[in-house]
Amino acid sequence: MVLVIVVAVLALVLVAASAALLVARRRPSGPELEPPAPESVGTVLAPPRPEPETEPSVEAPPRPDTAPVAPAPAPAPPVPPPAPVKPSWRDRLAKARGLFADYVGSILSRSRIDQDTWDDLEEALIRADVGVGPATELLDSVRIRVKEQGIETGQQLVEAVKAEMKARLAVGDRSLGGEVPAPPGRVPVWLFVGVNGVGKTTSIGKVGARETAAGRRVMMAAGDTFRAAAAEQLTMWAQRAGADIVRGAEGADPASVIFNAIEAAASRHHDLVLADTAGRLHTKANLMEELGKVKRVASKPPGHVCETLLVLDATTGQNGLVQAQQFTEAVEVTGVVLTKLDGSAKGGIVFAIQSQLEIPVKLVGLGETVDDLVEFDPDEFVEALFSQ
Ligand code: GDP
Repeated sequence: MVLVIVVAVLALVLVAASAALLVARRRPSGPELEPPAPESVGTVLAPPRPEPETEPSVEAPPRPDTAPVAPAPAPAPPVPPPAPVKPSWRDRLAKARGLFADYVGSILSRSRIDQDTWDDLEEALIRADVGVGPATELLDSVRIRVKEQGIETGQQLVEAVKAEMKARLAVGDRSLGGEVPAPPGRVPVWLFVGVNGVGKTTSIGKVGARETAAGRRVMMAAGDTFRAAAAEQLTMWAQRAGADIVRGAEGADPASVIFNAIEAAASRHHDLVLADTAGRLHTKANLMEELGKVKRVASKPPGHVCETLLVLDATTGQNGLVQAQQFTEAVEVTGVVLTKLDGSAKGGIVFAIQSQLEIPVKLVGLGETVDDLVEFDPDEFVEALFSQ
């Protein structure tokens, strides 16, 4: 009897144990078996940041007053260059010719030269923005030609005016790069100065594209630190042109940003630095003082300022001359980049700049695209201005 009871108890224990085992197997997870909750996004480790470029040249040693150097953007992917369309002076100067062409047309039809002819000629030149002084000087020389060459007809007179204009425009060195090249070991720097809106950034971009196309390694310096948009715009041009760029924080010292760019260019063996500068400060005196400082700093080794190009908007007419006078007081300007000659400019401003300021007009903007900045050609310009 006792044996029966013991066996029964044992059997019961066995059944209970196997039932418990079965239940435990069937239940996939109890609260204690829950897998750990996934980590929240915030705790996911970011992949390691790429090492900064190791080339020592990019990380120029910080100067006490130096603005941070933005790393040069990756070079733009190669884009097949569109076939360059050489802008035609005649087409682009269509607006400039406008009124002038009417006067010239009427003079051309005259069989003899009288006081009216001279008056019309003078008015045409003044209306074309040549300026009163330069127009008078020009016509004085033309009168001598007329006497010497026995000129009688309107057509001969117009030819004499064209010849005199071409001769007066042909003076001065229009080649880019400066009369004195940078000494060995120094990086040539071209400074671009001018008031806001004249087309300074666009011109630097276009010049950069020309120079990289010619096989030069170009560094741009975003020296207009007073406008964030200026650095943005220049960065876009640098990418398009395949040039490098050094930028500073907004409001940083422009001279330091430019100096950084020069140092980076020197250690990375660039051939040229194109430096933007501020176009507006609180006062004119500040602006001019700033430009003087930029020029001094950019002239220190390893830099060498070969060109200081004043960018002027041709559509501002005689006002451009006033600007030019102010800038030449602050820095020695070596050449003028005259933009927007395709716009509502009257053209004669080219003549006014060169004859009154005695600064050669080196480049001319005949449109907004990269190929529209061309070397100034006095013959083509005069022919286009007088063409009917
Ligand atoms: P910045 O303030 O001096 O840097 O001037 P921008 O380079 O920003 O140029 C101001 C405006 O002028 C932009 O819309 C340019 O596209 C335009 N521009 C510059 N050069 C020329 C040119 O030669 N012809 C024409 N039609 N527009 C130009």
